[in-house]
Amino acid sequence: MDYKQPMRLSRYFLPILRETPKEAEIVSHRLMLRAGMIRQEAAGIYAWLPLGLRVLQKVAQIVREEMDRAGAIELLMPTLQLADLWRESGRYEAYGPEMLRIKDRHQRELLYGPTNEDMITEIFRAYVRSYRDLPKILYHIQWKFRDEQRPRFGVMRGREFLMKDAYSFDFDEASARLSYNRMFVAYLRIFARMGLRAIPMRAETGPIGGDLSHEFIILAETGESGVFCHADVLNLPVPPETTDYDSDLSAIIKEWTSLYAATEDVHDEARFERETPEEKRIHTRGIEVGQVFYFGEKYSKPMQSLIAGPDGVDRPFQGGSYGVGVSRLVGALIEANHDEQGIIWPEAVAPFKIGLANLKVGDAATDKACADLFAALQKAGVEVLYDDTDERPGGKFARLDLIGLPYQIIVGPKGLAEGKVELKTRATGARESLDPAEVLARLAAA
Ligand code: ATP
Ligand code: MG
Repeated sequence: MDYKQPMRLSRYFLPILRETPKEAEIVSHRLMLRAGMIRQEAAGIYAWLPLGLRVLQKVAQIVREEMDRAGAIELLMPTLQLADLWRESGRYEAYGPEMLRIKDRHQRELLYGPTNEDMITEIFRAYVRSYRDLPKILYHIQWKFRDEQRPRFGVMRGREFLMKDAYSFDFDEASARLSYNRMFVAYLRIFARMGLRAIPMRAETGPIGGDLSHEFIILAETGESGVFCHADVLNLPVPPETTDYDSDLSAIIKEWTSLYAATEDVHDEARFERETPEEKRIHTRGIEVGQVFYFGEKYSKPMQSLIAGPDGVDRPFQGGSYGVGVSRLVGALIEANHDEQGIIWPEAVAPFKIGLANLKVGDAATDKACADLFAALQKAGVEVLYDDTDERPGGKFARLDLIGLPYQIIVGPKGLAEGKVELKTRATGARESLDPAEVLARLAAA
């Protein structure tokens, strides 16, 4: 999609719901349905409507940029996988009822991928045999299916969901830790760029296996995981864009993992109390938005993906995997950014930067002022949604507040009589009466 293409609401597809949907238990799910971002097609399976898709793609793009910056390389694996591949890694039986198993017309057993360790190992072993070709980190952004027992909270726990999953390949453990550190730092940056403070917490490794793992968690009452952490972890500095991923990142990892932070699965109360002064202890809930794992030879060994070392001896590669819940993040972002009126998008992921509201469609001067602003914003490459519908002003205000664009330019005959339009900042509610030229200068520059 071309984001810069300005949009007239009268020609857009933005199905706003007036009623609050009863089935939605948490605010992000309610707001996504009401704002016309998603539509449920089956339990835990959603269509992304145009407004929702814009946000989903912006989130995915931030993830992509930070993966690339950290030296990971994008590819795209299919959603359907052969069951035999999973038999080879030993996971086919173990995965259980969460896996959607399918047969094709030739009775071949397939599955809709819940994750891709097995497939990436299969791809990797077909081409890479020497330590000289390592390290490598490969990733894709692809739909997954997990037949969750209780899909709920909208896109936060879907059955079909979009995940970024990266896989690292190293010759020895020391170098595998460097890859882990790179992904760890990239994750700190990904969430920070979206305006989220995600805390890396010691975590259980689960069915993917391994011995080193952190979950990245956003604190939220509506989160599904119980979490414990030191309050100061909320104020640690995020590594800057200029971070050199080829340098030693271990000081950053150390800083971010020294203060106590753990999910309830691995929580150690005695240690928490020992390491954290009482007034700094946080016990709340959180949303898991990503996880990093180091699992060593878990796949390379059974699947015989061997690397010849400098001594000529073949060894299984040392692997890690790194997931981000791209579609879950859209819900998590709303949990973290909303008020009574609706969503408040951080600019980095907002579906449009500006909502331009024409309060009197059909009035020549108002139409002209709006058309001029619309054209100028388009020229400046600013993403704008122009409400040129004949809805009454109150309805327009409510709709713009609901969909949460960072800025609203409100144009009506009263203001125009004095040469002014109104600029409203959604996050603060601040309203300013300004010349159209001033508004343009401000919004086109930022
Ligand atoms: P959870 O504990 O929430 O079930 P998980 O630990 O099983 O998640 P991972 O295998 O770590 O999930 O997947 C990587 C990321 O994908 C998670 O951190 C999460 O953000 C996202 N994710 C996992 N399951 C779902 C789901 N059912 N719906 C939406 N996003 C999901
Ligand atoms: Mg996880």
